[in-house]
Amino acid sequence: MTATNGDPHGSSYGALTADDVARIRMDFPVLDQLINGKPLVYLDNAATTQKPRPVIDAISNYYLHNNANVHRGVHTLSQRATDDYEVGREAIRRFINAPDSSEIIYVRGTTEGLNLVASSYGRKFFKAGDEVIITGMEHHSNIVPWQILGKEIGIRLRVIPFTDQGELLMDEYESMLNERTRLVSVVHQSNALGTINPVSSIVEMAHARGIPVMIDAAQSIPHMPVDVQAMGADFLTFSGHKMYGPTGIGVLWGRADLLNEMPPYQSGGEMIRSVTYEETIYNVIPHKFEAGTPDIAGAIGLGAAVEYLEAIGMDRIAAYEQALMRYGAERLAEIEGVRLIGTAENRGGVLSFYMESAHAHDIGTILDAEGIAVRTGHHCAQPVMARYEIPATVRASLSFYNTTEEIDALIKGIDRVIEVFG
Ligand code: PMP
Repeated sequence: MTATNGDPHGSSYGALTADDVARIRMDFPVLDQLINGKPLVYLDNAATTQKPRPVIDAISNYYLHNNANVHRGVHTLSQRATDDYEVGREAIRRFINAPDSSEIIYVRGTTEGLNLVASSYGRKFFKAGDEVIITGMEHHSNIVPWQILGKEIGIRLRVIPFTDQGELLMDEYESMLNERTRLVSVVHQSNALGTINPVSSIVEMAHARGIPVMIDAAQSIPHMPVDVQAMGADFLTFSGHKMYGPTGIGVLWGRADLLNEMPPYQSGGEMIRSVTYEETIYNVIPHKFEAGTPDIAGAIGLGAAVEYLEAIGMDRIAAYEQALMRYGAERLAEIEGVRLIGTAENRGGVLSFYMESAHAHDIGTILDAEGIAVRTGHHCAQPVMARYEIPATVRASLSFYNTTEEIDALIKGIDRVIEVFG
């Protein structure tokens, strides 16, 4: 596997400097281009992040030199592919401080991680009348799988409300926990609001009643250290493409004792130990949950992404992005007619805003003409929009490769929106 080029980004202590960021930007070839005649300002990182050269190289290297199926061949290429695929798994284990790499299950992304738990764990352990608790700021992928299960077996979804700022009402959460609660499944960082939820307290309160907790870490894992043991979680899932890795690959981590109790999610090759027409014996974890030929190049690319993030340092990434987000929030607050949606004290690099004078899509189009990429719409979190009684927001979401100059460009772009729409 291609590793990162040592520690390419300066000292490993303190927040990233402007020089560090300038060097980092050179690792991302896609950033260096004009869009509509203007330098690209990529502020759609919550939707997907750009890929650094070591990730692209790791994927190319696999296809150029090592392409073969994993786990099945005795020949050299298959051994190399298997080694790199498993090195990726170990890198991910280290990154989230999981106790054992057999608990790292490769999936397509967060959506599949959530569906796997709903389908496998839910079908085995839930019965009519049971309850699953989520927050009011979930992505649709942490709502719909439970709803489908609800229709099938009659479970009830309970939703923790939040304040206008976007902070969970923890007293309400506590009062929802009861003997019917089978699982708490919550988002770590909201993609629509940026709120970083107090997951350790959420876990503690659930565990006090023997209830397991699943964490949707899609938006937190690219931006802060995530340690599943410190957090105390029982399941955690995330997507490679939001953490500088490829699309089509992600991870479900689960406690081994829970995963061992769960039935397979999909079936076929790889997930079996032996098959006869009378009986099939399943493979051990993680293979039990990895039916079929996996996204081998994706897993290798994700391993490279993890190494890239480790080389920079998650603490430094978090500190830099916090400062950038605070700067952006201050600049946006100065503009009359712009309402920031999501102002929780503890929040990540998401600047979601609403303007009465212009529809979010029109704002996005004007910004695109200025070379600025933002997301507009409901961000797959329609209940969050309903909570604020707005149809959509414009969301600028940050990465460690963004700069204050790019925030200034966004502000100038919004000035342009005001010129057009008043
Ligand atoms: N949860 C959250 C909080 C997200 O932001 C997203 C992606 N927007 C998802 C889940 C789903 O991720 P994916 O589409 O990669 O499966």
